[in-house]
Amino acid sequence: MSTASIPHYINGQMSAGQSGLSQEVFNPATGRVSGRVALAGGADVEAAVAAAQAAFPAWADTPPIRRARVMFKFLQLLGEHKDELAEAITKEHGKVFTDARGEVARGIDIVEFACGIPQLLKGDYTEQVGSGIDNWTTRQPLGVVAGITPFNFPVMVPMWMFPLAIAAGNTFILKPSPLDPSASLLIADLLKRAGLPDGVFNVVQGDKESVEALLDHPEVRALSFVGSTPIANLIYERGARHGKRIQALGGAKNHMVVMPDADLDKAVDALIGAAYGSAGERCMAISVAVLVGDVADEIVPRLAERARALKVKNGMALDAEMGPIVTRQAHERITGYIDKGVAEGADLVVDGRDFDAGTAGEGCADGFWMGGTLFDHVTPEMTIYREEIFGPVLACVRVPDIATAIRLINDHEFGNGVSCFTESGSVAREFGRRIQVGMVGINVPIPVPMAWHGFGGWKRSLFGDTHAYGEEGVRFYTKQKSIMQRWSDSINAGAEFAMPTHK
Ligand code: NAD
Repeated sequence: MSTASIPHYINGQMSAGQSGLSQEVFNPATGRVSGRVALAGGADVEAAVAAAQAAFPAWADTPPIRRARVMFKFLQLLGEHKDELAEAITKEHGKVFTDARGEVARGIDIVEFACGIPQLLKGDYTEQVGSGIDNWTTRQPLGVVAGITPFNFPVMVPMWMFPLAIAAGNTFILKPSPLDPSASLLIADLLKRAGLPDGVFNVVQGDKESVEALLDHPEVRALSFVGSTPIANLIYERGARHGKRIQALGGAKNHMVVMPDADLDKAVDALIGAAYGSAGERCMAISVAVLVGDVADEIVPRLAERARALKVKNGMALDAEMGPIVTRQAHERITGYIDKGVAEGADLVVDGRDFDAGTAGEGCADGFWMGGTLFDHVTPEMTIYREEIFGPVLACVRVPDIATAIRLINDHEFGNGVSCFTESGSVAREFGRRIQVGMVGINVPIPVPMAWHGFGGWKRSLFGDTHAYGEEGVRFYTKQKSIMQRWSDSINAGAEFAMPTHK
């Protein structure tokens, strides 16, 4: 079988690049190589920055309504090609096709939001701040900005970034994950067909070296990162050293509290979907169930039954509920965590290591398969509680009351998403107010905010000041300017040496 070459996209053209380096891309369902992705070196990054820099003045001068029209056309093309994008995701990431479609749809939401850029960029104006003096604020684009994205959402996470960055008048360089790079080129093609001028959107394929070149480049004014916490931390520090604006979203360990008064049928459904959907490879996946009072005795056997019955199959099968793990290395990492959970004394109720790859579908015997894993009696000192596993492993922790649940969650190093299932308004209110987590769901297991609200965690789940997308996204990709103006008939003669006041 021939394998595809997956190039860069610079200045409106596909480019094999100058480094001569590349790496294999796999279909995780079959375990076979499906392509080779180019890996950028410094010269490729330099070419992308030069293209983005050259395109910036004209694009920044384009009236916002005309930039919005390009976004509208892009939106229409995305609607026509959404299944193609979803298929590209499933073939390189492994997540099931129905989930990949959902990912594309949530990305499209942000493009819809970006279509409103003329309104979002509108400034403030105050007439007569002093006699004959007006003062107003505008927001202007930054210049060349970059986005570094993780493997787990190859369409949606780039769309958290570039639609708003571009609509606001910046030019953009995307550095996708080398594990599933193909969707980035489909996006580039759709943007070109939507009428986006060459150089406004560029794709540099690669890994650490290209990211460092972007971080160190003086013309890259801001960088958005989404990925694991250790890398997010590095990016934030290195970017800040160069005086760049940085938002770096990191890892997670998301808890879902189940109160004794919750609707337990719905809580079980929610836990199963949120823990095992996308094989747990979501930054908002639920990886810890916090079971309050006597809930555990009732819920754990039901979770076990459902975890054993998961339809784990090639993601292109329409009835698949969970696909393979993204790579062999990730599979080994997750297996290692399960081993550790057993060694540290957690109760392994369902063991996903036992999964028979023969049941995953034709041609899938060599894929990176595992089933859903369920642990009970997990305690806060255990490695499987403290660290992000990023796989289909759900840990159940038993606590006596809501106060203990809140303390447990607030003590965790991550603070991305959290959920509480309860029928009590006062518990829900108290939980929402006290919890030290950026995104909270009440009877909603995965509370990913809508396009106009913005996405971001707290603590070591986000380094930087602004959340992704929403109005915070617009602020991140623009800088505020204040203009104060008066005309000669209101200017007093003579120099003023005292601090001017609003006379
Ligand atoms: P990762 O940190 O390994 O990679 C993310 C990006 O950084 C990739 O583009 C990669 O090429 C690049 N990179 C890797 N090593 C680097 C290095 N040493 N220096 C510079 N760049 C480097 O993350 P991943 O495995 O692709 O994605 C999974 C992680 O992302 C999980 O931790 C998950 O929680 C997190 N994530 C967070 C969010 C969020 O919104 N907080 C969303 C999605 C994923």
